[in-house]
Amino acid sequence: MTETRTLDAFHAQSPDDVLDTLSTGRSGLTTDEATRRHAESGPNRLPDPPKPSAILRFLSHFHNVLIYVLIASAVMTAALQHWIDTGVILAVVIVNAMIGYIQEGRAEQAMDAIRDMLAPRSAVLRDGQRVSVDAAELVPGDIVLLEAGDRVPADLRVLEARGLKAEEAVLTGESVPVDKGTESTAQDVALGDRASMLFSGTLVAAGTGRGVVVAIGIDTQIGRISGMLSRVQTLTSPLVTQMDRFARWLTVFILIVGGALLAYGSFVGHLPFSDLFMAVVGLSVAAIPEGLPAVLTITLAVGVQTMARRNAIVRRLPAIETLGSVSVICSDKTGTLTRNEMMATSLAGTDRVYSVGGNGYAPEGAVRWREAEAEPDAHGLLMEFARAAGLCNDASLRDHEAGWRVEGDPMEGALMALAGKITGDGAEPFRQWTRSDSIPFDASHRYMAVLHHDHAGDAYIHVKGAPEAVMALCADQRTAHGGSEPLNADHWHRMVEELAAEGQRVIAVATRSVSPDKADLDTADIDGTLTLIGLIGLIDPPRTEAVAAVEECHAAGIRVKMITGDHAATARAIAELIGLKNHERVLIGSDLEMMDDTALADAVVETDIFARTSPAHKLRLVKALQARGLTVAMTGDGVNDAPALKRADAGIAMGLKGSEAAKEAAELVLADDNFASIAAAVREGRTVYDNIKKVISWTLPTNAGEALTIIVALFAGMALPITAVQILWINLITAVTLGIALAFEPSERGTMRRPPRPRDEPLLTGALVWHIVLVSTLFLTAVFGIYFYAIDRGYDQALAQTMAMNMLVVLELFHLFFIRNIHGTSLTWGAVRGTRIVWACVLIVTSAQVAITYLPPLQSIFGTQPVALFDGLLIVAIGAVFFALIETEKQMRLAFRPPQTERGP
Ligand code: ADP
Ligand code: MG
Repeated sequence: MTETRTLDAFHAQSPDDVLDTLSTGRSGLTTDEATRRHAESGPNRLPDPPKPSAILRFLSHFHNVLIYVLIASAVMTAALQHWIDTGVILAVVIVNAMIGYIQEGRAEQAMDAIRDMLAPRSAVLRDGQRVSVDAAELVPGDIVLLEAGDRVPADLRVLEARGLKAEEAVLTGESVPVDKGTESTAQDVALGDRASMLFSGTLVAAGTGRGVVVAIGIDTQIGRISGMLSRVQTLTSPLVTQMDRFARWLTVFILIVGGALLAYGSFVGHLPFSDLFMAVVGLSVAAIPEGLPAVLTITLAVGVQTMARRNAIVRRLPAIETLGSVSVICSDKTGTLTRNEMMATSLAGTDRVYSVGGNGYAPEGAVRWREAEAEPDAHGLLMEFARAAGLCNDASLRDHEAGWRVEGDPMEGALMALAGKITGDGAEPFRQWTRSDSIPFDASHRYMAVLHHDHAGDAYIHVKGAPEAVMALCADQRTAHGGSEPLNADHWHRMVEELAAEGQRVIAVATRSVSPDKADLDTADIDGTLTLIGLIGLIDPPRTEAVAAVEECHAAGIRVKMITGDHAATARAIAELIGLKNHERVLIGSDLEMMDDTALADAVVETDIFARTSPAHKLRLVKALQARGLTVAMTGDGVNDAPALKRADAGIAMGLKGSEAAKEAAELVLADDNFASIAAAVREGRTVYDNIKKVISWTLPTNAGEALTIIVALFAGMALPITAVQILWINLITAVTLGIALAFEPSERGTMRRPPRPRDEPLLTGALVWHIVLVSTLFLTAVFGIYFYAIDRGYDQALAQTMAMNMLVVLELFHLFFIRNIHGTSLTWGAVRGTRIVWACVLIVTSAQVAITYLPPLQSIFGTQPVALFDGLLIVAIGAVFFALIETEKQMRLAFRPPQTERGP
């Protein structure tokens, strides 16, 4: 029997045979054994799809209309024996390809780093304990624990299944989830029918389960299908694609203009063809924004990296732009606005409320009643609380050097700590009890139930969950003396309100004994048969940084709404602490169900708190907000949140507690689950959009100015004030420096004090067109002005041209400093001081200009002549006047803009 055959046969073997074959047991491997196997089997990872070779990637940057135009020009100039021009054009071509190649490498690195941040983790048993490990560390024989929303990390033979369903579309193309169970299947069934197996890369759609790893990495079924996995993310966004298209059409337009000029010049102007041809080449190079697509890509890559540093991981690039226009953020409460560091503080029984002391998740601390310590011996009720809290629980506590930590759900961790406090048995109370069956927690029924047998063989059911949900299952309530009496629903509702009003998360616990031979648990077993033990109140303090972030969002004209599965009173109390605007009004899930879509759309805009909602409500809320023209960011973590995340303009998944399903549906993943990271991402999204606009607003007038200079000279029938090779030079030097500087611009000061940009704001706004017209006219005036001044003084034409070229570069530099602050004044110390990158670019450009003006070898190539000191100062002075003009014009425009910061609550 070959190795592959053994692997293929696991679905037909019994679970115990599979465990034997893999030399493992139901409690998994030891850490040592796992390490040994890992060294042998290598990481559980698929090899990266092969990349095209470096040379091919370099060559791909020559595949571009503009480059074709340039290469054609190089051939023509060579035919005309203008060797210098040929050389300079080829230099432009090669430098452009090099920049493209380098920026692509950078962008890819940025995306790779992000992929690593999203590496999936997996819950497995090691040394008999549940731990979460990097999925790449799984080895054959590991026991993996799965729940709804998980991505299956390796090929598994199912050992336990409870309502387990998997969606195997990646493998079989079948998108309807299939049932999974422990029963072996026939040897020769197709992949899609191997119900006893879970395959790597598929999604757990429902239920919970356990499986033993039978194959990892390339040996998995998905690993054998090569080619399917090369999902390469291209670095682009709607704005950049739009710009790309614009640049292509602009190229066509300019070629037509160039052709017309060529015809006009030779037939009407009777100019010598070779001069004319060079002028048209200069025009094409000047006018076509060849550097623009590359610079925009860099801008996006820089944005992705900055966001990643702020714990916001962009999964889909267009989201960067969308984030900048978000006008309402719908956030989860637990873990996002609060810390998700829970602690049980109060226990409410029928006639008394206990308070619980202690620190964090440490399972030690006193329970008090009426100022006195309450011992479980004297208070039988406490033991019942402990049993429900400790048994109806999937979390475990671990004593780290830095303190006690939870593996699993923090709320369950807090309940485990509570059980430890009451029993005095530390982190693992009730070890002798064995769980026979369970009904997992689900956000739609809001409870969890377990069936246990104790050492004496007696069987009990314990249930915990949202008070309404648990009370609906109860027939009676426990009295202080261990008996039971009819349920007093009013009393408990009052109690819930009281605890919740303090911001506590309230859950109810209930129990029932069943006959010892009972082995499975069904909803019918608990319906209306339970005895309510009481309520447990847990605190989960708000995140301090979330308070500041909510305030920042409000200042930025973004409404923050809380959408939680928790109780209305708890939600309201937390909302008040966090600083949400309207915390008087709370809508709960059942309210939402009674409203039709129009009523809902009216209600959602003014309401900021939604409680007791289910994932289906989230989807309706997103739609309702969008119907009001808002751009919606929505957070989510569970598998059922995926539709709402997909529908939202910016779906945001939780990196820590979120399921793989939610992450894959989202545009953005928060590495720290923190609301403050959303605000940071919005700020960064606005900055990237601004920077894209800045790059465009800098490039287009520059190109237009250069092109107009040539066109005007040709039509006036005069010599070019700047020669064609000089234009090529300017493009070569400035395109690679100044534009890129803008890609790295930090956020402007008022970035989060402006209202959100309208979603459909066009790129080419009236303001931008006006800016292009104004700046290119000023460029034209200054360049011709200095040229005529030089001619007037009797300078050589070559010197006049040198001065005009330097004038153009100086104008571009001043224009750069102007563009850095499109929303505010450029006349602050911070604005003048600039960034290191800006000054590095200024330095490069200045040195290059000094070199071309004063170094004899360059002078002979470019036909330049040394400029006298006074004339040099004059050029800089004209640049300063240009800056003063456009800055004043901007201030005048800003003065007439309606005040935007005053849009208070
Ligand atoms: P949130 O929006 O706060 O994350 P959830 O949808 O997770 O709310 O939970 C809603 C309610 O369900 C909680 O208020 C709690 O009463 C109950 N609940 C949450 N987790 C569990 C669990 N693991 N077991 C039982 N009940 C739970
Ligand atoms: Mg939750």
